[in-house]
Amino acid sequence: KQLLANRVKTLTPSSTLAITAKAKELKEQGIDVIGLGAGEPDFNTPKNILDAATKSMEQGFTKYTPAGGLPALKQAIIAKLQRDNELTYKANEVIVGVGAKHVLYTLFQVILNEGDEVIIPIPYWVSYPEQVKLAGGVPVYVEGTSEQQYKITAQQLAAAITEKTKAVIINSPSNPSGMVYSPEELKALAEVAEKHDILIVSDEIYEKLLYNGNKHFSIAQISPAIKARTIVINGLAKSHSMTGWRIGYAAGDADIINAMTDLASHSTSNATTTAQYAAIEAYNGPQDAVEEMRQAFEERLEKIYPQIAAIPGFKLLKPEGAFYLLPDVAEAMEKTGYDNVDAFAEALLTEANVAVIPGSGFGTNTTIRLSYAIAYDLLEEAVRRMDKFVKSKW
Ligand code: PLP
Repeated sequence: KQLLANRVKTLTPSSTLAITAKAKELKEQGIDVIGLGAGEPDFNTPKNILDAATKSMEQGFTKYTPAGGLPALKQAIIAKLQRDNELTYKANEVIVGVGAKHVLYTLFQVILNEGDEVIIPIPYWVSYPEQVKLAGGVPVYVEGTSEQQYKITAQQLAAAITEKTKAVIINSPSNPSGMVYSPEELKALAEVAEKHDILIVSDEIYEKLLYNGNKHFSIAQISPAIKARTIVINGLAKSHSMTGWRIGYAAGDADIINAMTDLASHSTSNATTTAQYAAIEAYNGPQDAVEEMRQAFEERLEKIYPQIAAIPGFKLLKPEGAFYLLPDVAEAMEKTGYDNVDAFAEALLTEANVAVIPGSGFGTNTTIRLSYAIAYDLLEEAVRRMDKFVKSKW
């Protein structure tokens, strides 16, 4: 008998994790590798949040919580959505889960029937297609080319919709492109979603990391009708440097949230109690650290962007959010003798000792993703190494 279920036969491990593992292996051999693969802020979680977690444990709050999250945390999230996004939700329209990643996983499990299609813009976050497939759904890719700032248009969305389309995923600011949809662009996409009666999954996890004066706008803000068909996904990982705490949430239709809560009651029971207490403080306490971290990222971006753009054969747009750069390296690959981006990234790792994520994992076969969530002097050194690598082979 075969050991594994059909469901996992086509499952590919996250490309981000694979390159990180290889980089770690080289480091253990004593090789000085600079990792630009990180998908997490390089700051510790703010002290007030750490203290709130400790205090909750000392007070004995170390037991199960309701499956959908502590009522006080739901209230903190509801207050946040009102304060930051002018969105009004009730407690039965919010679920807290084990990171935005698992919240998305649970969402696809409860909204997709076998064969239902989900429209995923390219370049995409690595986990969307796998999560859709694991729920029996079919990813339908629509490419946002670099000419259109890696964003999809309303016309493209309309053209991709079939009778089987259940939802479209919008991730703004985007991982991996760092691009941000304008309110007008979101309105055009929302109109199409409304016309064809599909759901909008709006992944807003990078909301707080916006640069150049950009302000966040949630697609759910467009109108009550659009809000009703939107499931807002967010979390504390990127905004409050809390990746390891694993707290994310969804806000949307009460029936969907209720089904997600029932499923969570049989899968996770609840997000870790201590982490939930930390999250309450993260949203109810002072927000200065969020802005300080954002400024640190923006300063790095301003300095590193021109340096990366100056590497021969690297073409890139200046990101407006998140903490990634996505140079198109088609010319660099061609001039240095690589016919695919995986081999190019592998050579950067083994020969230049810089770990980057090949775009193949995001649906873009000529890009690499560089994270600037590391110290600036390391970033500069990584640029020097990549520059030297490309020039030596040109
Ligand atoms: N969505 C996007 C676009 C992400 O980049 C990430 C993390 O890398 C997540 C969701 C998941 O975040 P969390 O750590 O809350 O699971």
